[in-house]
Amino acid sequence: MRRIAVIGAGQMGAGIAQVAAARGNAVLLADIDLATAEKAKAGIEKGLGRLLAKDKISAVDAQATLARIMPVAGYEAMEQAEFAIEAATEREEIKRAIFERLGAVLGSDAILASNTSSIPITRMANHAPDPARFIGLHFFNPVPVMPLIEIIPGLATAPETLARTRGFAQSLGKQVVQSGDQPGFIVNRILLPMINEAAFVLGEGTAGIADIDASARLGLSHPMGPLQLADFIGLDTCLEIVRVLHASTGDSKYRPAPLLVKYVEAGWLGRKTGRGFYDYAGAEPVPSR
Ligand code: NAD
Repeated sequence: MRRIAVIGAGQMGAGIAQVAAARGNAVLLADIDLATAEKAKAGIEKGLGRLLAKDKISAVDAQATLARIMPVAGYEAMEQAEFAIEAATEREEIKRAIFERLGAVLGSDAILASNTSSIPITRMANHAPDPARFIGLHFFNPVPVMPLIEIIPGLATAPETLARTRGFAQSLGKQVVQSGDQPGFIVNRILLPMINEAAFVLGEGTAGIADIDASARLGLSHPMGPLQLADFIGLDTCLEIVRVLHASTGDSKYRPAPLLVKYVEAGWLGRKTGRGFYDYAGAEPVPSR
């Protein structure tokens, strides 16, 4: 059984842990402390329960998947990991501190992959234990449902690291696309300007939340509107990505919408906090303004 480490057990890390475990990997799951990692495992158990209730998974598979996920307090047990996937908060200093700690334990063959949405891989590789074994591995939310993974080699990523990572991503049943190490890679480079623009449209009073999202659904055939999608992603993550696009290109077209900044300052981060552009307190989400 392959051993995988996942650091950061939020919505993405938990999803990555679930998918890796469902595909037969032993997963060590870490967050800022053991309690947070355990809470993430409890969330995964709930999610598997829902799949079970819908007959999308057998009871045996759900049990086996759960049994392969081990929440850990520290990184010591990760010395045997073939892949370590960092999925912590989208802040470079947080990720760098994690890489430093991982450097003390990871084996000389292990690959360290970051699930960053926007931070340059080449720059982060400089702070990784070995830049040749560092790569971007960008999953989509929710990880058990979304079939895509972007793979982003940095300047120093070795061809063998790229090949092994591609093989690992495919072993998870995902479709792989490769992107150059440019801000936002492929998907977020296209998506985040749209979400940011939707926040401008709302903030400037051009249209309300329901009409903006209905426009994208019914006028563009998008499965959900940009504001609903932003709530799924997390408004803090959206803002960080827009800021990275803005800072790294210097192009004013990426300036963050003031309303997006305000929502994040209010702690209205989307589904994960119960309120974003929508309010999730009731049975159905309702526009929050
Ligand atoms: P999240 O807020 O749900 O989870 C982040 C987790 O990181 C939290 O559990 C937090 O406690 C943990 N964390 C913070 N500091 C840590 C530390 N020092 N050590 C270990 N864990 C720490 O965020 P998320 O949506 O899961 O995003 C995580 C990463 O995945 C980010 O880099 C984000 O850009 C990326 N990503 C997000 C999405 C999305 O749709 N949300 C999609 C693709 C990639």
